Amino acid sequence: MPHVTPFDSSPASHLPILQRIYSDTLHRNPGEPEFHQSVHEVLTSLAPALSAHPEFTETGLIERMIEPERQIIFRVPWQDDSGKTLVNRGFRVEFNSTLGPYKGGLRFHPSVNLGVVKFLGFEQTFKNALTGLNIGGGKGGSDFNPRGRSVEEVMRFCQSFMIELHRHLGEHTDVPAGDIGVSSREIGFLFGQYRRITNRWEPGVLTGKGREWGGSEARTQATGYGSVLFLEQMLKMRGEDLDGQRITVSGSGNVAIYSIAKAQELGAHVITASDSDGYVIDEKGINLELLKQIKEVERGRISAYPSRQGGSARYVPTGCVWNVPADAALPSATQNELDSAAAATLVNNGVKAVAEGANMPTTPDAIHVLQQAGVAFGPGKAVNAGGVAASALEMQQNSGREIWAFDQVEEELAAIMCRIHNTCYETANQYGAPGDYVVGANIAGFERVAAGMLAQGIV
Ligand code: NDP
Repeated sequence: MPHVTPFDSSPASHLPILQRIYSDTLHRNPGEPEFHQSVHEVLTSLAPALSAHPEFTETGLIERMIEPERQIIFRVPWQDDSGKTLVNRGFRVEFNSTLGPYKGGLRFHPSVNLGVVKFLGFEQTFKNALTGLNIGGGKGGSDFNPRGRSVEEVMRFCQSFMIELHRHLGEHTDVPAGDIGVSSREIGFLFGQYRRITNRWEPGVLTGKGREWGGSEARTQATGYGSVLFLEQMLKMRGEDLDGQRITVSGSGNVAIYSIAKAQELGAHVITASDSDGYVIDEKGINLELLKQIKEVERGRISAYPSRQGGSARYVPTGCVWNVPADAALPSATQNELDSAAAATLVNNGVKAVAEGANMPTTPDAIHVLQQAGVAFGPGKAVNAGGVAASALEMQQNSGREIWAFDQVEEELAAIMCRIHNTCYETANQYGAPGDYVVGANIAGFERVAAGMLAQGIV
């Protein structure tokens, strides 16, 4: 687990409360380092809000927020192509429904465990609050590894997963979407199985669906597009724009691909992409069509890119993209992928902004290094909120049986991202931490959930 700093920035009067809540969190949730890390990050930001709102420490509000409303763990048995029976573990953590139905993606990756799902669900609660829309927080997934599995195996797994999950879903209850390892293909298999079990065509129970069967235009693009729109606002505050900026991106999945697409559209020069095996540098700029062909169509590895792109690109099987000098960086793969050494390298190479496309990709120490060096740092719960915001727009279309045009969704997304940015920026100013998007995002998200919880009583 990355090093976690003490609550040294909190006004003295709140130190004991925050420390006790954090100690209780460690005690009650053993062996869940990612969850501890996400709770710690939020708690370290809260002191100014607690001073302004003494009611936020009453009725166990923070303690209730840290405890998920419901945690579902289930067996997922399925058969591989040889007929062998395998067993995975499924999770759905319904974290907080104060502001709306539980909303958050499903992740299929061997690293998934209860602590990872809880960290993602906790983050999601504040992220969803930041969108200003009526969505609560939840997250789920499985330790199933789709890598190397046939389409039939993935389908059988999804069908078995839904046999248990379906009883917990509902357009007013819990509405999952995709995440790592779950794209529109898996959402299709899950939706088909839900329809078969329930005999109901209820598009509002899942988002990220195909366009022809209840999905929304621009949902596929939304997280990546939104991340870049947030980065654009961060640069604007420093009197700059994206045109001509040299940008490094990690990952080559949904978030990375559509971040690259939007950054290029806005004139930036994106030079890297990666997967869990290595990364590519292309000084001519990433060839988006080739990247999409390799990763989306062929579901191949990033190592295939240089030979098909020609001389401008090379593959690096070790190290990380953060060694490559850049004006701005978009970590868009997974949690804790950017550590303090990588942050120091970025700073030495003159980075101006880091915006988290992924969830919690930057370790606490690395955030500290970046902020101390005056780098603008955008936390994932704000930067990548465009995905869930577009999912909420998909739910809105589903409930009205409407189909909106791509431009309409994109326009709404742009307005939402601008609003989230401004909320974070202004909240940070209001609480005496100008330019600190971590404080701004945590307090603004927390305040909205807290106000709702206080109004709704002890539930
Ligand atoms: P994808 O599965 O589409 O892509 C994930 C990418 O990250 C792949 O390139 C994958 O490489 C790489 N990756 C995954 N795990 C690791 C690892 N342990 N080490 C190195 N690389 C890794 O997922 P998404 O693009 O959807 O998600 C990426 C991040 O964005 C996640 O943190 C997710 O929670 C977050 N996010 C996603 C949203 C969405 O709408 N999709 C919304 C908001 C946040 P490989 O192929 O080798 O595994």
